[in-house]
Amino acid sequence: MRYSQALIPTRKETPVDAELPSHRLMLRAGYIEQLTAGVYTLMPLAWRSVRKIEQIVREELDAAGAQEILLPMVQPAEIWKLSGRWDHYGKELLRFKDRKDQEFCLSPTHEEGVTDLAKRHIRSYRDMPKNLYQIQVKFRDELRPRGGLMRGREFLMKDGYSFDISFEAAEESYKKMYNAYTRIFKRCGLSFRAVEADSGNIGGSHSHEFQVLAQTGEDRILSCPKCGYAANEEKAEVKRTVTATTFEVLADTPAKVEVHTPGQHSIDEVAAFLKIQPEQSIKTLVYLADGEPVAVLLRGNDSLNEIKLTRLLGCENLVMASDSAVKEVMGAEVGSLGPCDAKIPVYADLNVATMHDCVCGANHTDYHFMHIEPGRDFQAKAIADLVLAQEGDACPHCGEALQAFKGIEVGHVFLLGTKYSEPMGATYLDAAGDSHPCVMGCYGIGVTRVLAAAIEQYNDENGINLPTVIAPFQVIIAPMLMKNETVVAAADKIYAELEAAGIECLYDDRDVRAGVKFKDDDLLGVPYRITIGERNLKEGLVEFKHRADADNTKVAVGDIVEFVKARVRADLEAVKG
Ligand code: ATP
Ligand code: MG
Repeated sequence: MRYSQALIPTRKETPVDAELPSHRLMLRAGYIEQLTAGVYTLMPLAWRSVRKIEQIVREELDAAGAQEILLPMVQPAEIWKLSGRWDHYGKELLRFKDRKDQEFCLSPTHEEGVTDLAKRHIRSYRDMPKNLYQIQVKFRDELRPRGGLMRGREFLMKDGYSFDISFEAAEESYKKMYNAYTRIFKRCGLSFRAVEADSGNIGGSHSHEFQVLAQTGEDRILSCPKCGYAANEEKAEVKRTVTATTFEVLADTPAKVEVHTPGQHSIDEVAAFLKIQPEQSIKTLVYLADGEPVAVLLRGNDSLNEIKLTRLLGCENLVMASDSAVKEVMGAEVGSLGPCDAKIPVYADLNVATMHDCVCGANHTDYHFMHIEPGRDFQAKAIADLVLAQEGDACPHCGEALQAFKGIEVGHVFLLGTKYSEPMGATYLDAAGDSHPCVMGCYGIGVTRVLAAAIEQYNDENGINLPTVIAPFQVIIAPMLMKNETVVAAADKIYAELEAAGIECLYDDRDVRAGVKFKDDDLLGVPYRITIGERNLKEGLVEFKHRADADNTKVAVGDIVEFVKARVRADLEAVKG
């Protein structure tokens, strides 16, 4: 491609409202352009990279026995009503009506669409396994679209679905997809981890997220350096050393005293004010579990794992109570809450059972109690494991201290079971003629998010620095002086020969200063550059440089094509694995 004819609208200024490096760089390098909040045009450079990612995805999924289809993006409400999600999906689902007043939605995911398809074509155990996937635009009316392609409202997703006769068979399909995903992200050149994720009520570790490691990631993951256990923070288990599920009351704790703590609300503020450690203070949180208020107690320096609490309570919907709801049920403002004389059920984490002579809110705004003895001054309905894992906690398998990382979720594999096949009636007949619901798995990759995540991993102060496999072009050819006929003739020849050899070249034929060319070329994320200048050419040489290296190598004009071919091929081979 000749740069002069390409649509690469680079920008000099740094976009002010773009926080993530990948978002800033993609705007500056002319990869993407915003049309409206969370909705972007993929310009030629981004689209070239995305198509390469798609190609890797297709190759690996096809090799694993999956078949590509394309489901309609517009979905009738009926099938969403069958699954129950028309009512439960919430505002991320964009709904609309046609001229006949029929209800539709723009699909945010396709479990309904694909299950409806399976219902009509999978009839017998002989029709399975089936694994169908598509690469398609999704729409989710995200509350907070952010980071450009990282969390868009419209984005490109690969979504796949497997259908099997049993859980055992579905597990096989799941494993195949897990392995295919591992190869896909490896081939994209990403540094990533597959981590256990929450699988809701299916249980086991039948959900894994593929997380690209990046400081800017939204997700926190914990992993064990010894045995390799890795899980999303919200799912991570911890080996608890404390196991007491009743309070042991110490007789010599003085009677509780109410103290005035004006304006001291957070655990740290109260601890500093009362000259105690945060771990001597009980944190009291109020939640609504299916609408019913409950109080949760944690040691001051611990955080709550909402998934563990949901499981303990056996509820469907857990939300933190609003400030006004808290005031109503506890009689005090957030910041002065405690378990003493609470009129709602109290649940305590195991660590609370190790606390004695401690501090908690007095359910009286701006007051706290000192010398609280759990079991004497308050009771709990249950004492259970409720804490969120943190760095340094013991690995549930081997006890080693867990390490924390930040990640970007680029993929998710999930054993669904019969969650959709049952209500939607996707059943099959077994050999004996009995009917059963198909056992499903679903598998997603955020294709456009993969590009954003890759740029988070591959950038420097000069711009984007993508690995050759997913870079928009492989080589930039940069003649220093477009007015010099010898230089241009040499550049034309190299360009023609590289193109003929199947090397993807961006020929920077713009008649601009060398400084401008170098700056733009560094920004774009093309791994190699051939610089053709008058002086070198007189000695029969051109300059060759990798985007990440500071120095140029001089190569004979006659050798450059073979030289570049070898480098590019080596890069492509290296990630094939
Ligand atoms: P998140 O927790 O980031 O919202 P999710 O759990 O909603 O993700 P899935 O429904 O599992 O995501 O979607 C499959 C994949 O699609 C995700 O792993 C992610 O890579 C990608 N994805 C999800 N939402 C977005 C979005 N708004 N923009 C870009 N990619 C997304
Ligand atoms: Mg989401």
